[in-house]
Amino acid sequence: MRCLIIHNPASGPRSDEIFAFTHALAEAGDEVVFRLLGDGMESAGAAADAGSFDRVVVSGGDGTVSSLLDRLRDSGAPVLVFPSGTANLFFGNIGNAPEAAALARACRAGRTAKVDMGELSWTDENGVSRRHGFIIIAGTGFDADIMRRAESSHGEMGEIAYALAALASPAPQVAHFTIEHDGKVDELDGIGCMVANTALIQNDINLFPDCRMDDGLIDIAVIEPAKTVELLPTVIAGVLDPAGKGLLGRPQFKIFQAREARITANPSLGMEFDGELIEGKPGSFSARAIPQCLDLIIDDYSNLA
Ligand SMILES: [Mg+2]
Repeated sequence: MRCLIIHNPASGPRSDEIFAFTHALAEAGDEVVFRLLGDGMESAGAAADAGSFDRVVVSGGDGTVSSLLDRLRDSGAPVLVFPSGTANLFFGNIGNAPEAAALARACRAGRTAKVDMGELSWTDENGVSRRHGFIIIAGTGFDADIMRRAESSHGEMGEIAYALAALASPAPQVAHFTIEHDGKVDELDGIGCMVANTALIQNDINLFPDCRMDDGLIDIAVIEPAKTVELLPTVIAGVLDPAGKGLLGRPQFKIFQAREARITANPSLGMEFDGELIEGKPGSFSARAIPQCLDLIIDDYSNLA
């Protein structure tokens, strides 16, 4: 078996576990190529020949995994996501057993599921068209605000930083949103708009109850105006009813599902994808699902099994 491992050594406190994984994986007759991201080794170069390997392992936090999977789309290579980062939300959405030895077994077995990515397109401050794939959530407004505030302490505090940042936004800005989704148009006020490929966040809370990463659809949610304190019922609903299928639902989210959408915010609020902030303040962006473009390695515990 020829296996390519692409690892971000700066990914977080679990960064060294990839070596235990490699030790558990490798057998006589294998070729294991290990590439470490950093100066002189960017995602694009590291993943360029991925299609020629029997397995590709992407190891890092959500930002690293998002960038690498964007390069591995349609490569045909079976891809294993290894959770080396601080929060590893995407890995949580896959739901594989997290131990290094279990992941090594799954990698060798090579059972896969086809899943979607999201794709975000916007025009930057110099008028240049830009795009990036995303695996979890892209958005504008409240969530981008949270990410911006969390950025300074990101890495050291991880998940705690996100929670603290949320509490530091007592009166988020309201914008008027125009949502064009699969030929229909809806207009509404909100403090943010999120577009999701997967929506399971910490503690098994599913932000959008019907969101799946294998249905060819993105979930678009406008967060209705509220002070952060008034969002607490939604957070509590998430804790009491993680799947969101019960009576509580998601009272302050207006949710659309679509193959593609164009979102305009007036005034413009900041934008982020998978926790990475986008420079400038684009007033509108497009998002779409790229269906079935990844072959993810799964085990019997996976939500995708
Ligand atoms: Mg979907």
